[in-house]
Amino acid sequence: MPKISQKDIVKLLSQWGKEFTVLVPSKESGVGKIAAWDGKDTGFLEWYRNTVIPAKASLFPPVEEMFTFQKDKAGYKLETPAVSGHKRLIFGIRPCDASALAMLDRVFGEGYEDPYYLSLRKNTVLVGLTCTNPYDSCFCTSLGGTPSDPANVDIMFSDIGDGFLIDAVSETGRDLVARTGRLEEATRADDKKAQEVKAAAYSKVTRKIDTTGISDRLLACFENGEHWERVASRCISCGICTFLCPTCYCFDINDELIKKQGTRFRSWDSCAFPVYTKMPMENPRLEKWRRVRQKVCHKYGFYPMNFGAIACTGCGRCIRLCPVNWDITQTLANLP
Ligand code: SF4
Ligand code: SF4
Repeated sequence: MPKISQKDIVKLLSQWGKEFTVLVPSKESGVGKIAAWDGKDTGFLEWYRNTVIPAKASLFPPVEEMFTFQKDKAGYKLETPAVSGHKRLIFGIRPCDASALAMLDRVFGEGYEDPYYLSLRKNTVLVGLTCTNPYDSCFCTSLGGTPSDPANVDIMFSDIGDGFLIDAVSETGRDLVARTGRLEEATRADDKKAQEVKAAAYSKVTRKIDTTGISDRLLACFENGEHWERVASRCISCGICTFLCPTCYCFDINDELIKKQGTRFRSWDSCAFPVYTKMPMENPRLEKWRRVRQKVCHKYGFYPMNFGAIACTGCGRCIRLCPVNWDITQTLANLP
């Protein structure tokens, strides 16, 4: 297996930058997100644990133009934005966020095919970085993941201290690694070091949940309003836990109209908001407890009913970023 030393990452990303727009973990006003690489800074290798804004924002942007329209005597003329065929490479995505993209692929690609998401997705190569320093809010190992899971990336970089092993996972990844110059072969000692680093990271994920029969357990207490009122009591309906969840995908659609021309765009929405899904009348979940119940049941009950898998990766964002310390793992542990 090839390897690369940490000091050569700039050269590698520069080489890939000739073919791709390279996106890396970055900070904007102190908030971690995936953004275009500036061509020189690899400081994220020191500070990066995971981004606040998940990688889904690079494929399903918070605000996205769908089309513009113009009205004349003959009716409406629509123009869809030009689809950029430019290839992108996300360097450093964590296994949990790559696994979330696999869940979004099913939502936006099975049955209904979402052209906006799919056009970005098919032109994006995912290069994962094993997680060595998970947060105490992480619980990926309870959901079939690990801090070094290569399942959903094209290439996986595994930390060996002063560099990385490069594991080409998909055909796209194998092709790219084969075309990449200046890669040394890893030694047995490098392999051993990578295994040690992975085992150490795995053991740092100490938060656990028991998902046995979770959908049935949720269904059994679904109508227990008193229970859900207690669960929801401290929530302030800010929507952070859903906006920043890598597997949440709800969006609202709005038209911005000036005289006879306008733009239709979509933007992230959250089932935590009282104004969510107003439909022709009111939000059917006016009480806060119904909205909190929806969030939990969507991840652990409804998505599994539709797709046969839990729609939570255990990334822990909804725990560490909630302003009132609401905790989904406690909610799941305390089902009646
Ligand atoms: S982040 Fe916390 S307070 Fe905000 S909606 Fe989610 S659970 Fe409620
Ligand atoms: S529900 Fe929470 S822990 Fe699960 S994927 Fe979403 S933000 Fe991460």
